[in-house]
Amino acid sequence: MDKALIDGLIEIIGKDAVVADETRLMSYESDALAMYHEKADLVILPADTAETAACMKLIASFGVPIVPRGAGTGLTGGARPIEGGVVVATSRMRQVFEVNPTDGFARTGAGLVNVDLTHACEDHGLFYAPDPSSQRACTIGGNVANNSGGPHGFKYGSTTQHILGLVIVLPDGEVLDLSEPRVDPEGVDLVGLFVGSEGTFGIATEVTVKLVPTPEVVETLLAVYTGGEGLSKACDTVSEIIRVGLEPSAIEILDTLTIAAVEDSVFAAGYPRDASAVLLMEVEGTPTEVQGTSGDIMKLAKTFGATELRSAQTDAERAMLWAGRKGAFGAMGRIAPDLYVADAVVPRTKLREMVRTTVAIAEKYQLKLATVFHAGDGNLHPNICYDRRDKEETRRVVAAGAEILEACVAAGGSLTGEHGIGLEKLAEIGLLFSEQDLQAMGRVRRAWDPDLRMNPGKALPLRACVELGDKPKSSVEA
Ligand SMILES: Cc1cc2nc3c(=O)[nH]c(=O)nc-3n(C[C@H](O)[C@H](O)[C@H](O)COP(=O)(O)OP(=O)(O)OC[C@H]3O[C@@H](n4cnc5c(N)ncnc54)[C@H](O)[C@@H]3O)c2cc1C
Repeated sequence: MDKALIDGLIEIIGKDAVVADETRLMSYESDALAMYHEKADLVILPADTAETAACMKLIASFGVPIVPRGAGTGLTGGARPIEGGVVVATSRMRQVFEVNPTDGFARTGAGLVNVDLTHACEDHGLFYAPDPSSQRACTIGGNVANNSGGPHGFKYGSTTQHILGLVIVLPDGEVLDLSEPRVDPEGVDLVGLFVGSEGTFGIATEVTVKLVPTPEVVETLLAVYTGGEGLSKACDTVSEIIRVGLEPSAIEILDTLTIAAVEDSVFAAGYPRDASAVLLMEVEGTPTEVQGTSGDIMKLAKTFGATELRSAQTDAERAMLWAGRKGAFGAMGRIAPDLYVADAVVPRTKLREMVRTTVAIAEKYQLKLATVFHAGDGNLHPNICYDRRDKEETRRVVAAGAEILEACVAAGGSLTGEHGIGLEKLAEIGLLFSEQDLQAMGRVRRAWDPDLRMNPGKALPLRACVELGDKPKSSVEA
């Protein structure tokens, strides 16, 4: 990295906010998809929009690529560099600028941790609905970039439905202030376009989010299934709940291997160890609504073969049931040192079939599979537990992941339910999009980032963005 660039950045944000030391750089070389890693040349930690803009302007003058980074909990390799460049991390942008209970919005720094936003507004009887299971670590900016979902996405929708405004620093350092929440925004929806752009358009530094009222009553239910067909029965229960129009706010399924891992870990939730699957659901509303919907769901689960039904009796019990679900990925560290979280999404009616397919694929590649998923959204997470030090096993994991994606697309699903494309799914992008689709997306990307310096080699294959005679900043291709 050019010394003049490093010195210039130190002048703008100070020595402590510029990470050039080899040891500290190691913690930025991958995200939660640890099988891919590459050392960054430099990491910078600007504190706000002004500092980010000044840094981006200087970096632009050196023509160096930029990789935005939140907390690095992404599961597709999105926040790791491919060929060096500067990682711009938002971890110092944790401000809560404003909570407006009257109009129901909050304005925060992009580096604010998801759960801290809800803590900041709970005294007003409001909360921020998108709740990725990583919400104790992931940032609002990362959620915006990946259009993240979460267990409560079934009722509330994903991040894009909750973002009212953004302040974005463009690749050349220009600041695009789209932060004013408007009732009915006019013109091109640039905020909507930015959400889900995976750090390829610019860096969001401030985010205005919609807040929703904390429900009067919340009931958490657990339906337990046993025996060989338990997982299929749980899937069928979900399809029926949706078919008959019942409206729980969350519907999650955990399979037997996941239950064992959770129960052996610090996240132990009291899920029965002999269950082949559990269905974790939440119902919200007025006392009458909750009582009615919960009763109907319990009846239906029983009809579809649940052998035990529970309702959390206290807040502590409710928190424990959710801690098991939200800690499930972490708990899988007990099965193997590494985890590959596939992000399969299919129409909900195909859940049962897709679960069987993923089990068959794991068996074919002789891999250990633990499944936990946002069943209400048709979003399966087949988790392959493996050891990345074993190169041959890692090769099988990658092949199985690709086959799972192929099966999803063939079943009418998509390439990503919520984790994004990143680096992980670039090779499969042609399963869903034609060359013309990709070229059209490439033109949009170039409108934001003409030099292709923002997170190069992620989300979209470079060939889609490059015109004849261009020299992209990164030569990495899908
Ligand atoms: C245990 C665990 C559970 C998870 N559960 C869920 C879940 O339930 N639902 C879900 O959707 N995901 C889940 N994830 C994935 C991940 O947490 C989300 O994708 C999250 O939004 C990433 O946030 P982050 O701050 O860690 O972003 P990072 O991983 O740092 O970055 C993610 C992407 O966003 C870009 N980016 C980050 N910040 C900005 C910014 N300010 N401006 C522009 N681009 C930016 C990066 O370049 C990268 O492409 C889970 C991950 C783990 C490890």
